[in-house]
Amino acid sequence: MTVQSFTDSKVTYETTEHNCTCGDWQFRGSKTGKDCKHMVALKRGLAQEIAKVERFLAIKAHVERVEIERRENASCYLRMMASPW
Ligand SMILES: [Zn+2]
Repeated sequence: MTVQSFTDSKVTYETTEHNCTCGDWQFRGSKTGKDCKHMVALKRGLAQEIAKVERFLAIKAHVERVEIERRENASCYLRMMASPW
């Protein structure tokens, strides 16, 4: 099945229980036999759930960044108003 990359929603991998097209499996897992995270997720039926959580965390991080910028702008205006000029 096609699994969306956990870190980049534009990237997808073809994942089966025994194979995956991601770099982790191609360069490490296929030699060591250790499942990559996509195969683990596929086997647990969690791939879509994890993708959803990753997107939520990305949105949350964005919202927090905007909030910090807003606070910095507000304190900048306060300084301007407090200035004698
Ligand atoms: Zn993989």
